[in-house]
Amino acid sequence: MLRYCLPALLLLCCTTADAQSPNVVVIFCDDLGYGDLGCFGHPSIATPNLDRMATEGQRWTEFYVAACVCTPSRAALQTGRYPIRNGMCSSTRRVLFPDSKGGLPAGETTIGSMLHQHGYATHAIGKWHLGHLPQFLPTSHGYDSYFGIPYSNDMDAVKEAPRGKARFNDPKTDYFNVPLMRGEDIVERPADQHTITKRFTDEAVKLITQQKDKPFFIYLAHNLPHVPLFVSKDFTDVSRRGLYGDVIEEIDWSVGQVLSALKEQGVADNTLVVFTSDNGPWNSFRQQGGSAGLLRDGKGSTWEGGMREPTIFWWPGKIKPGVVMDQGSTLDLLPTIASITGATKPGDRVLDGYDLSPVLFDGKAGPRNEMFYYHGEECYAVRSGMYKAHFKTKTSYTGQRQAEIHDPPLLYHLGHDPSEEYDIAKDYPEIIAAIREVKAKHEASVEPADNQLNKR
Ligand code: MG
Repeated sequence: MLRYCLPALLLLCCTTADAQSPNVVVIFCDDLGYGDLGCFGHPSIATPNLDRMATEGQRWTEFYVAACVCTPSRAALQTGRYPIRNGMCSSTRRVLFPDSKGGLPAGETTIGSMLHQHGYATHAIGKWHLGHLPQFLPTSHGYDSYFGIPYSNDMDAVKEAPRGKARFNDPKTDYFNVPLMRGEDIVERPADQHTITKRFTDEAVKLITQQKDKPFFIYLAHNLPHVPLFVSKDFTDVSRRGLYGDVIEEIDWSVGQVLSALKEQGVADNTLVVFTSDNGPWNSFRQQGGSAGLLRDGKGSTWEGGMREPTIFWWPGKIKPGVVMDQGSTLDLLPTIASITGATKPGDRVLDGYDLSPVLFDGKAGPRNEMFYYHGEECYAVRSGMYKAHFKTKTSYTGQRQAEIHDPPLLYHLGHDPSEEYDIAKDYPEIIAAIREVKAKHEASVEPADNQLNKR
């Protein structure tokens, strides 16, 4: 009898976490630009904690999100799938709104649900934006706890608030009737956004301090620097960059608090921490938005500035410190986390992510060679190796109503020309032909999903 039970027991041993299993913390910002951190070249925003994290860990310079706006980008991070596969993108309603009836479908496996099944304590903090109805909240998607706002901090504007962009110039927290939730309950409305970064940080530190015999996963998704910009008293007027810099410097402080808590609890050398953001800077808000550095355009566009994010991986004693110029993506987090924790990836669906462990731990070449740049439901551009072809373009939120179609596509070499200034399409017809094939193959792999963002 024992002989027959043994394989099952072994299987159980291999698929259940124990106290030695590594912890994971993902810190995710909102609308942070590629050029907004000191360690990514910003001259007047001070980010000493992130700079130190980058020195001790790996700074990834070619790390992408899978969509250029909030909701689909978050769906991709959580599931390791392009949002076109789970109905979490739309060309008409590009994100979820307070009147939306849709959300991340129950059948999707998030990083939280994968690790929860594996025996982890799982916690979501901050902005969710994958559905605010109970069946879509983190507690319905594998998280033991949730403390945060269910959608963007500029939504639910009250009618007394100044109209249009004027409400962002000197924002008051009660202009935006955004709920702060614990679990499935609203605990404060409107959320006091001045103290929100501090409170999300306190929650993360509390959870790290309380961790006992179970490994944990914390998804800490700051709702800033998305406008409206708010900071606590301690970070008011501290930055040479003005209010936007104050916000980033408070997030930097937050990162320092999280890393210190991990060290104080003696678990830093058993914890992977990833820092990145959901999409590029919101350029149409001018000085209230961030900077994509030398990358072109920002949030809402499929130029590099919309989708390449400043990214840091940190795990003292385990990750090989350095600068990584290989391609990576938030799509890769689920498979990478599965690999390092021993959790089982969903095996019944297409995943678009790769296991980045060989790069993180062994300094090997990255497995990712291509990236598809979605604008709503449509793939506007494709990166293959160092080349990127734009089949359609649309600037972020400024002016251009219709996308411009390019046939032949625009072609850029992202190593020689990271700012995408010099179209070299006419010199490389064979590269364009190869990229067309890559795009066609990807598109053929997509099965239509019930659109969640258009439901209201
Ligand atoms: Mg965003």
